[in-house]
Amino acid sequence: VENILRPLEVSDEKYRQVVELMENDIHKGLNPETHASANIKCFPTYVRTVPDGTEEGDFLALDLGGTNFRVLLINLKGQEVTMESKIFIIPQHIMLGSGVQLFDHIADCIFKFMSDHKLHDRHLPLGAILTTWTKGFKCEGVEGHDIVQLLHEAIARRGDMKNVKCLAVINDTVGALMSCAHSDRQCAVGLILGTGTNACYIEALDEVKTWDGDHDEPKQVLINTEWGAFGNDGCLDFILTDFDRSIDKHSINPGKQIYEKMISGMYMGEIARLAIERLRKANLLFDGEGSYHLSTRGRFYTKYVSEIEGDDVNNFTVTKQIFEELELVTHNEQDYRLVRYVCSLVSKRAAYLASAGVACLLNRINRKEVTIGVDGSLYRFHPFFHDLMMEKTKVLIKPGLHFKLMLSHDGSGKGAALVAAVADRLLQKKRQLAKDGTSV
Ligand code: ADP
Ligand code: MG
Repeated sequence: VENILRPLEVSDEKYRQVVELMENDIHKGLNPETHASANIKCFPTYVRTVPDGTEEGDFLALDLGGTNFRVLLINLKGQEVTMESKIFIIPQHIMLGSGVQLFDHIADCIFKFMSDHKLHDRHLPLGAILTTWTKGFKCEGVEGHDIVQLLHEAIARRGDMKNVKCLAVINDTVGALMSCAHSDRQCAVGLILGTGTNACYIEALDEVKTWDGDHDEPKQVLINTEWGAFGNDGCLDFILTDFDRSIDKHSINPGKQIYEKMISGMYMGEIARLAIERLRKANLLFDGEGSYHLSTRGRFYTKYVSEIEGDDVNNFTVTKQIFEELELVTHNEQDYRLVRYVCSLVSKRAAYLASAGVACLLNRINRKEVTIGVDGSLYRFHPFFHDLMMEKTKVLIKPGLHFKLMLSHDGSGKGAALVAAVADRLLQKKRQLAKDGTSV
């Protein structure tokens, strides 16, 4: 058992190396001479405005490109935020269709949502979350296109939603950061631990050599790291296991998103499954007897990992249920304990690797107190992910730095609405100034 599982255990020394490697890569991403070849692209997001609590009214938000497509209605009244949301399914044929079809469908969904909430005659600024379309589906002609334009064209084609205006498109990491910054001014990092993983953070403008915008105060910019691609050049090979290599080889994007594949919800269950299968084949689990499900890729869900680790070790009720779902014929207490141990190793490594990333950002930011806004089902539902990250990040940051990990409740969507709200406020102000004859 030890021989098979040992590669999943990584020493603090190696985690420190990971922090250092990431620091190098971030540096490359921020510099124009090295940006093209950098793994961690560090895109400036051009959003420097943080909500100040004066935003009021109703705002729409779209969460696109994640597991689900959601429309949200968010009401802001100072610190008070209420929201309603609805999940829409994007049918397979639309997912594989053209960008025009996709955005017509999205516009239909917004219209339905507005009908349900009787919103048609209201001035409604909209903010959209857009994450990369690399997570299992690809809609021709969307990636890299101007989403705002596609959305406005679709809205215009309908002709019955004249009051909806998309004012902001942001990344989900920025959404997580913004939604936490609304109640916690020290929030300087947004972290996603869901289907994939990514983070954004506040960087000093002087460090962002790729920046081509203005250099006004506050001389800071939000950097979307796209850190999931860390390791694509092989720099993380020293900690990869056979399980990781197998996952990569059979993925839709071999050689890409190496760091993400060791951490996020799309892969954690599969890493556990591969380890369990290895043990089973060595007659160390289930008397060597597997099942069709257990040998099926992707069939051991990441939520099983959470459920098994959260199970009561006095009766293993949930674990037994999962084994029955997987149609495993023989299983006993020793199997429950060993599978739980496998899950804990996979989770630990994922959480610790994410901690290495967070530590790297905290060290760069170098403020005494920083809050990290976190969104995503892995962090939200795993019983120990938060605690594991607290523990390891503390070990990996520079002495004297302090931090909080804060769950951003429905973060990304709320963040998008907040950015739209700020954009709307600035727009109104600009219009007013123009009306008053002041040049802007
Ligand atoms: P997205 O990142 O696509 O916006 P989510 O934040 O909901 O969506 O994350 C979805 C991912 O979370 C899936 O990969 C899924 O495996 C994982 N997940 C869902 N439920 C749980 C759970 N209970 N424990 C751990 N991971 C989970
Ligand atoms: Mg999401």
